[in-house]
Amino acid sequence: MGVWAIIAAAGAGARMGGGVSKLLLPLEGVPVIARTLMAFERCPDVDGVCVACAPGQDGLMRALAEAYGASKATLFTCGGATRQDSVRGALLALPQDTSVVLIHDGARPLVTPALISACAACAAARRACIAAAPVVDTLKRAEDGTVRATVEREGLWAAQTPQAFDYRLILSAHMAALRDGFAATDDAALAERAGTSVHIVPSGPYNLKLTTPGDVALASALVAASSTARVGQGWDAHRLVPGRPLVLGGVSIPHEAGLLGHSDADVAIHALMDALLGAAALGDIGMAFPDSDPAYKGISSLELLRRVAAMLAGAGFAPVSADVTVIAQRPRLSPYRQQMQAAAADALGLPAGCVSFKFSTSEGMGFEGRGEGISAMACAMVRSCR
Ligand code: MG
Repeated sequence: MGVWAIIAAAGAGARMGGGVSKLLLPLEGVPVIARTLMAFERCPDVDGVCVACAPGQDGLMRALAEAYGASKATLFTCGGATRQDSVRGALLALPQDTSVVLIHDGARPLVTPALISACAACAAARRACIAAAPVVDTLKRAEDGTVRATVEREGLWAAQTPQAFDYRLILSAHMAALRDGFAATDDAALAERAGTSVHIVPSGPYNLKLTTPGDVALASALVAASSTARVGQGWDAHRLVPGRPLVLGGVSIPHEAGLLGHSDADVAIHALMDALLGAAALGDIGMAFPDSDPAYKGISSLELLRRVAAMLAGAGFAPVSADVTVIAQRPRLSPYRQQMQAAAADALGLPAGCVSFKFSTSEGMGFEGRGEGISAMACAMVRSCR
């Protein structure tokens, strides 16, 4: 016996434009589908999640689930020609002892664990239910831009997802629809057709289905308003020695000396990583990548920065912006600014304009001024994504 969720993630998103699946669009730094999966991950009443993927996207979906710690997502099926085909394929892939199945649009990332729980409980008690919001606008029926009638609003609900059912009931409703060539735009319609009473679980207006770019902007604003921004700072210094390559901000820079260290000793990226880890209270890079571990000998710090981004995602944070200052007497670093910004932003999955590199000397004072070493400081902002 178990409660499973099917996430419909095979839609092409034709109305969004731009060619990229709407499920992969970043919502405050986190892809739409990852936010959806995290809501089900956090719901204690869900035992397993099956993602009905577009053909060829199962590997990508699996990687996203892993990156964001969605460990309940263990089944990834290949979607069919229509949403109904995709859901039926996923239903057939579920364990035979499934008791309740929740069917949810991947493009509704603002669903809450509380709504998921309410739907699961209602389906367990009453066999079939949908999340739905009461219609608040006055409805008009129009033709050619002219109102023909006012539609009575009393008793009207806008159907959302999750839609939750007794597993055997919805599976047989789907198989009957297949046999009869009956198509519907939601799963409840198939249960209704089979004579089942479908109950309403009242939901609010914020369980948006992202259909147009305007929906994405609205959802981003809602996420930003309900998530927390946190900042962290980092500092690091390394010794300059002859015979080592100089790597700063992920860029190799011609110079007569390079920084000494276990990795590539990229002091700027080290400060940046500490700032990001600090913002998420995840410790420091010495804890994350101990220099006693031979695995990190000579490793590119950009690779470590990618791993920091994955650690943040696993802990429910997304990087938003960062600012790095490098203090070096020589060489002149400003010609490399754009390259550094692009390299660091790419490793963090951010637009280049969200990562800043600045350069300063110490006017000959101190170890940086004497050319004995280079230091860097950084601050970073992250946003909670749970
Ligand atoms: Mg260091």
